[in-house]
Amino acid sequence: MIYRKFFLLNAYTTKRITMMKSTKNYQTIPTFKMTSCLVIASLTLVGCNNDNDSDTFATPTTPKVATNTSLNFSILETSDLHNNVLSYDYYKLAEDKSLGLERTATLINNARSESANNVLFDNGDTIQGSALGDYQAQINPVKCDETLGIYKVMNALKFDAGTIGNHEFNYGLNYLNQVTGSQFNVDGITASPSACQGPNFPLVLSNVYSTRNKQPLFKPYTIITKTFTATTPDGKTVSVPLHIGVIGFTTPGIMQWDKKWLDGKVYTQGAKEMAEKYVPEMRANGADVVVALSHGGIDNSPYSPTMENASYYLSQVAGIDAILMGHTHQVFPDAKSTDTRFNATGVDKVNGFINNVPAVMPSFWGKGLGVIKLNLTFDGQKWVVNKPNTKVEVRTIQNADKSFVAVDPQVGQLINAEHQATINYVKTPIGSADFDMTSYFADVGDVSAIQVVNQAQAKYISDYIQANLPQYKAIPVLSVSAPFKSGFAGGNDYTDVKRGNIAINNAADLYLYPNTVQAVKVKGSVIKAWLETAAKRFNTIDPTLTTPQALISTFPGYNFDMFTDPNIHYEIDVTKPVGSRIINLTYQGKPIDDNSDFIIATNNYRASGGGGFPGLDGSNVIYASPDANRDVLINYIKSVKNLSLSNNGSSRSWQFAKVRTAGAVTFKSAANKIAIAQTAGLTNISVLNNDDGSNKGLADYAIDLSK
Ligand code: MG
Ligand code: MN
Repeated sequence: MIYRKFFLLNAYTTKRITMMKSTKNYQTIPTFKMTSCLVIASLTLVGCNNDNDSDTFATPTTPKVATNTSLNFSILETSDLHNNVLSYDYYKLAEDKSLGLERTATLINNARSESANNVLFDNGDTIQGSALGDYQAQINPVKCDETLGIYKVMNALKFDAGTIGNHEFNYGLNYLNQVTGSQFNVDGITASPSACQGPNFPLVLSNVYSTRNKQPLFKPYTIITKTFTATTPDGKTVSVPLHIGVIGFTTPGIMQWDKKWLDGKVYTQGAKEMAEKYVPEMRANGADVVVALSHGGIDNSPYSPTMENASYYLSQVAGIDAILMGHTHQVFPDAKSTDTRFNATGVDKVNGFINNVPAVMPSFWGKGLGVIKLNLTFDGQKWVVNKPNTKVEVRTIQNADKSFVAVDPQVGQLINAEHQATINYVKTPIGSADFDMTSYFADVGDVSAIQVVNQAQAKYISDYIQANLPQYKAIPVLSVSAPFKSGFAGGNDYTDVKRGNIAINNAADLYLYPNTVQAVKVKGSVIKAWLETAAKRFNTIDPTLTTPQALISTFPGYNFDMFTDPNIHYEIDVTKPVGSRIINLTYQGKPIDDNSDFIIATNNYRASGGGGFPGLDGSNVIYASPDANRDVLINYIKSVKNLSLSNNGSSRSWQFAKVRTAGAVTFKSAANKIAIAQTAGLTNISVLNNDDGSNKGLADYAIDLSK
């Protein structure tokens, strides 16, 4: 009991290990563990049969295992669940079968029915990323004696261990301390006599340290003991204990992304350095195999202790038998991936190995389950991993025929109260608008659904720069966004937020994609090229043609980036070929200087090269924020409260260059929406056919480019 309490109240320290090692008598450790368990059981009827209870370390016993005994076991991984427990989109208030732990649970159940020899680990970015996560953290915070919803579900699914992603820090250290049942020894957290309710599986993290006591914030590693079935050389099935060491790593970027919570309180260490420090210790403390939970992807650019995706370098640390990856939301192995980092020397993207170490990344939001099937042989002294017999795969909740696996019904039952409360929350007004915010006529100049997004992004980036990036303070900040919903799927595929109260879920209509905000520093010449690329949205119009000409090309609406800022103005001359359509581009009334610097707020997709915009390849990103554009938008609307057409929905930075055409210039939008064009001041729009015959709710409109 005393030992038990001691371990619960104290974060793991290397001192303890030293103490244990100094006994030079490993056999005593499991004895006292067992004794303490018996005492607890007899006094409180608390079971002590949890073989994940690894506050004490396993002993390097020499099990009586015959040489050449063979053992297969499956390591199962979830990563980047982002609090997507159910297959539900809280922004659209609709089921979304393409995500959710309730379906990953079915993959877990299936994998376990294939092999009872299994362990299940979570790789972090677990508690944040859905409205459910926000609700439990910020709106109606989970209480000290309650288990966070997703951890309740993970307890029921019997996770064996987990690590901490960067997003675990998003709600601050106090919240993380509470919901993980920790006792952080950091400035700003008052020591309490007992920890709050955390998950009932261990969370490990080796590379975030408390500034106050220079000790790891979480246990850097744990060793769990499983009893697995193995096969002796003469074909008998035997039960053997296997001691599985689990060590966690997160992205050092937390120090920037969550600076407001972490500055001065914690610091990070390099993943490689921590692996080199702790893996030998894990081995010395009895780990038969070592699994690295690496909340990072693959990057073979030169190593640094602050690099974001360190899995490649973890694969080069001796003693790591398997790497579970995450953070970059990718699938690995993936033979078809075009990611150049997956073609790095030593990376086998077909079979799932990095420098011959099995490695897996299971997508995100519960879309997939990582599976590493390790094959071990006992060589008389130790268990040895047989690489050729080790199989790595990602199983997805979407079947080959595009259907989805069924849900595990226990998950919905466990989370129902939190789910219903979250639905009520997202329906709560966060502000109001005195105008309809729609994208029906965004292609021809209506900015009612775009300006507020740009305002939110620009404010977010300029606030961040003022606070954290003083070297950029003098550079103007602008923002671009695009009509994400522009009729591709028919008349319902437009943003349409009605005037009146705006609720959280409306933010999804205004910002369709789960992108994150990024800022790039570019020259005026790049802005010109950016707009020229965006103007590919339009066909080249021949003013002499008397037959109707379609204005809109096949270039996607989501790539039609535009400014909505009174400081910047430009015209698009659609009679000119692609590349020479942007004219009269001015900043603060003067022609934009090709060599002047600007900072543009956009999203991770565009900044990293999405859409093929010249000069945007990720190299000029000055800030890759961890925050979703949609969350930034929600916070902006909350802060402004009452949006008005004059302040937030009518600042047009661009117009078509005036040109008289002999024939009609046409475009499609939803039927019966002409009044919206008129409200937006687009008096040069008329209806040609209120039904375009496509049976998709679309109409043909005409625009008079001479007006
Ligand atoms: Mg992450
Ligand atoms: Mn993530």
